[in-house]
Amino acid sequence: MSRVYNFSAGPAVLPEEVLKEAAAEMLDYHGSGMSVMEMSHRSAIYASIITEAEQDLRDLLHIPENYKVMFLQGGASQQFAMIPMNLMKNRVADYIVTGQWAKKAYSEACKFGTANKIASSEDQTFSYIPDCSDLPISKDADYVYICENNTIYGTKFKTLPNTKGKDLVADVSSCFLSEPADITKYAVMYGGVQKNIGPAGVVIVIMREDLITDDVLPGTPTMLKYKTHADAGSLYNTPPAYGIYICGKVFKWLKKQGGLEAIQKINIQKAKILYDFLDESTLFKGTVRKEDRSLMNVPFITGDKDLDARFIAESKAAGFENLKGHRTVGGMRASIYNAMPIEGVEKLVAFMKEFEKNN
Ligand SMILES: *Cc1c(COP(=O)(O)O)cnc(C)c1O
Repeated sequence: MSRVYNFSAGPAVLPEEVLKEAAAEMLDYHGSGMSVMEMSHRSAIYASIITEAEQDLRDLLHIPENYKVMFLQGGASQQFAMIPMNLMKNRVADYIVTGQWAKKAYSEACKFGTANKIASSEDQTFSYIPDCSDLPISKDADYVYICENNTIYGTKFKTLPNTKGKDLVADVSSCFLSEPADITKYAVMYGGVQKNIGPAGVVIVIMREDLITDDVLPGTPTMLKYKTHADAGSLYNTPPAYGIYICGKVFKWLKKQGGLEAIQKINIQKAKILYDFLDESTLFKGTVRKEDRSLMNVPFITGDKDLDARFIAESKAAGFENLKGHRTVGGMRASIYNAMPIEGVEKLVAFMKEFEKNN
């Protein structure tokens, strides 16, 4: 067996330790005589899995008592609709559009009310984060929406926007648990887990309790109401049970690493290796404004499409997988999530240096 260095943007690399544990527990989870995939989600043994997962997540992010944690399905994309359906009481919301995912969320919100695009970085192919210190926040906005880390373009909000007192809703799919966060600054923080936490099929929503009500847009389906899931402890219907179990293992792995402060240090160190090289390279260059660079997704180019294609092919042959940039932007992208070991980044940079010498 040999494992590659997987730089995929998502579904993405998971900690090897977690995969080994899951493999060892596959046929007989803790003496139950069955795998977690096969057990009732109403059983006591599954109750302990989901309860512990939630508690570990709460510990990692220091989630205050007045926030609910929900493990839902439908991916991050389903949240693009659930958020306006549940939170657009005045039918007005402000969107900061910094990439494809924010743009999709914005378009979806337009179906339910007036979504205002109050800032955008589309003029420069989303290669920067606009100044959000004094935006024209709408007086009657129900919330201000951001995508905190732009997976495709490799930008990240280093400071949260000044929402002028309005509730902040953030899609953190690709920076979830990559660093500490002050949950009290958010009304809603949510993310699909397949980028930095677990297997596709689970989306985690952390939401301030007072926002979870029956006062939703008329016609909102039961399954798309946060209250349905919050009241039932994410067990209104069958949850993505196996996925939640793997997320739980990743939470424990993160705790063992020393929590989010410790993982942030490693993430900064890892990203620095790659960005420092991009800054000194005569062949490769980063595509993002320096101060807005993501620690998780690092896009880069040579400036020559044929050379990019050759780099992608040769890197793949050398055991570095999924370095091709998003289909909408081209070039390369290295996603270096929590579970990417530092050696993976060091070896990638060594490979890039060699490629540079030969080209
Ligand atoms: C991947 C991604 C999404 C879409 O996630 P799905 O689970 O496929 O719906 C949304 N937002 C961000 C920031 C992402 O990286």
